[in-house]
Amino acid sequence: MSIKKKIGSDIATILDIPTGWKVSHKHAKITVTNTLLRAREFFKTKTEDQILWVGPVQGGRHLDLVKESAKAIGKMPFQIHALGSPTEVMENYRFDVLTDMILTAKQNLPTNRPLHLFGAGHPFMFSLAVALGCDLFDSAAYALYARQNRYMTENGTWQLTKLDFFPCSCPKCVNKTPKEVLNKSAKDREIFLAEHNLFVCIAELRRIKQAIREGRLWELVEMRTHAHPALFSAFKKIKKQSELIEKLSPTIKKRGLFFFSSAGLARPEIVHYRNKILKNYQPPNYSKILLLLPQTRKKPYHKAHIFKKIKKIIKNISEKNRDTIHICFYAAPFGIIPIELDEIYPLSQNEITFPLDYETKEYVTIQISEYIKHFHYKTVILLNDPVHWDSKVTKTCKKICKIKKLKFEELSTKTEINKDILACLENILKKHLSDKY
Ligand SMILES: [Zn+2]
Repeated sequence: MSIKKKIGSDIATILDIPTGWKVSHKHAKITVTNTLLRAREFFKTKTEDQILWVGPVQGGRHLDLVKESAKAIGKMPFQIHALGSPTEVMENYRFDVLTDMILTAKQNLPTNRPLHLFGAGHPFMFSLAVALGCDLFDSAAYALYARQNRYMTENGTWQLTKLDFFPCSCPKCVNKTPKEVLNKSAKDREIFLAEHNLFVCIAELRRIKQAIREGRLWELVEMRTHAHPALFSAFKKIKKQSELIEKLSPTIKKRGLFFFSSAGLARPEIVHYRNKILKNYQPPNYSKILLLLPQTRKKPYHKAHIFKKIKKIIKNISEKNRDTIHICFYAAPFGIIPIELDEIYPLSQNEITFPLDYETKEYVTIQISEYIKHFHYKTVILLNDPVHWDSKVTKTCKKICKIKKLKFEELSTKTEINKDILACLENILKKHLSDKY
């Protein structure tokens, strides 16, 4: 403590005991207990200063201990917290374990305090760590890598000897070739690589900050984690804690979202919609007939050409009961979108990849089923889109309608919704409008 004060530290960590990677639960417990003991001692002797003191969380890969450690240290008046022991986890490419460790710590620490990740120095994992809730990093990796001729990029590491071209235009690389750098003296080469490595780290941090401002951090993480299967395994683990991440994420962002695959189903906007639609939404009072239409390329869906035609049909049929028809769209990745909501962020503000993967279709059909189960319609009329959904939506609707004893009608198109289909739809609507409920 006194040394850190003397050298004028702005941010300082108490003298903790790092847990390490392959250690037993028993040993890990000792490191947690002793770090907490030292933290308590620290506050007994602490005097007034301008330093931001860091309360470290230990426990390593033993998540029960990380939880215990985070809970206890979070109760002490530290300004910053830090997660210990990730360096070896990262060196072993166990980013999935690291994800668990960060999320466990984050879940049990006060959310208003910054979280520091010790020893995180590779730009290819910064965005993942930030998305998981880390705010600060420190590492000597840029220099250590340079000593071993290792050239960092935001997508991984290269051996200088294996590079023909520099994939970078930082001030160091812009006018040099790998061959020229290899011909430098060992010391000059090390300085060159260390400086380039730092430039890459800084550029990636700036990219992350810009992505946060634009609400596009998820997209950046998704892109970066495709750099290595181990990183993508970690990204997939987010699913387990998607509710926690949703709780701590803003609901409105500056830009729409890109949905690439089922890995994106864990993103906070999708979890948020799933949680709110059944809890906070109520279909219009007189709705008896649920008319389910497929999503269109045009958004909001109600502005699509085909919708305008359907609206016209509804307008033409008996005025008396037409309010009983409630139009909803079934759309990946959200599920059912009632027409009144289709302009609300991000239901229209998204771009998705077709064809949809199996898990995404599975997810959407579950949402459709839940929606029909939850609300009180009497009839479900489905306009199926077999090009994108095969018979998945039909099967789901049929099944839930049978369970709920609802009437079910389906209209299927092979290519596009044509005149015949629309005429058919008109007849079906007329038939059901005369039903007595
Ligand atoms: Zn460079």
